[in-house]
Amino acid sequence: MGRNHGDSGKLLFTPGPLTTARATKEAMLRDLGSRDATFLEIVRRMRTKLLELAGVPKPGPYEVIFMQGSGTFGVESVISSVMPRNGRILVAINGAYGERIAKIATVSGIHVSELRYPENTPVREADVEAALREDPELDCVAVVHCETTTGLVNPVENIGQVVKASGNCFMVDAMSSFAVLPLELEAAGIDFLVTSSNKCFEGVPGFSVIFARREALLSTEGRARTVSLDLHAQWRGLESTGQFRFTPPTHAMLAMERALTAYEAEGGTSGRRGRYEANHAALMHGMHKLGFRPYLDPVYQSCIITTFYYPEHPRFSFKAFYEMLSDQGFVIYPGKLTHANCFRIGTVGQVFPKDVEDLLNAIESTLAAMGVEMNPS
Ligand SMILES: *Cc1c(COP(=O)(O)O)cnc(C)c1O
Repeated sequence: MGRNHGDSGKLLFTPGPLTTARATKEAMLRDLGSRDATFLEIVRRMRTKLLELAGVPKPGPYEVIFMQGSGTFGVESVISSVMPRNGRILVAINGAYGERIAKIATVSGIHVSELRYPENTPVREADVEAALREDPELDCVAVVHCETTTGLVNPVENIGQVVKASGNCFMVDAMSSFAVLPLELEAAGIDFLVTSSNKCFEGVPGFSVIFARREALLSTEGRARTVSLDLHAQWRGLESTGQFRFTPPTHAMLAMERALTAYEAEGGTSGRRGRYEANHAALMHGMHKLGFRPYLDPVYQSCIITTFYYPEHPRFSFKAFYEMLSDQGFVIYPGKLTHANCFRIGTVGQVFPKDVEDLLNAIESTLAAMGVEMNPS
């Protein structure tokens, strides 16, 4: 039986929602009204804190906006609020999340140009540069930082340089990487960056966090294609009254405040990355020993989530493997690749190298129970 993690039952080796600290869950044992002075103060403090953590403290060129909903709502808010009426967007795609950005733009009635790569290949800045040269009518370039589909990291800083040089708007989905993989907003020329409460900050699901270059944000007024996801209006609301325009995720905000305290106590970006890297190293070592093959070239691999090929054995069934691990208290993640049979293991959230060891032991005994023999190295 796996470790019973507080009252959460199972350890989540997924990319989010993640295993959260007990204190983070306990912070939610409080009801606050949306106009309650305590709540407004928490929102204000968190906005200040997040700009500091992103390396762009006030008064700097960036603003931070909370948007209700999961991370996708944040991406949709940016795309549908920022793009000009007959705008054209270039979306670099090497996984399901890049694909999702293109879909959001299409549904929003925006002209989409796609720059496609296989799922194991990072986006190249030279290709972005060429695409920008070919289509001078482009307004915006969108890219995913860590493609959670595989765990691959795209070279956002380099891409940002060529986007900035072209005068285009640059939008980054840094959902699964922000707060852990280093990224300097200003140096990378980022106009809009989206992350969420329930990824590397280790809060609970409920809202996304959007960093926006103020100048770029101000120029988008009146462009929104929806009411609820109107980024500029949301920012105006937070600035003028300190309130969300519609019911705020009060409990998720309380959890986030607590999670940010823990994040700082752990040493911020480098501290948390250190733990995730230790988790990831333990996982790679153990999976290699068991005979599993990773999907990505290690050069492109992040410490966030790792994709492994299914064992080539007739008795292996992912469904049975998943369920047997889950029964032991370990939740892993199915694959999302279009061309290969893989599964994924996340190494983020309140999990530690010892938990990874426990997972590896459970994987070993589960394979034995299934009668799956590997070629251990
Ligand atoms: C998690 C994630 C999202 C958002 O997914 P939701 O299910 O809406 O939270 C978007 N992009 C990436 C890269 C992600 O990892």
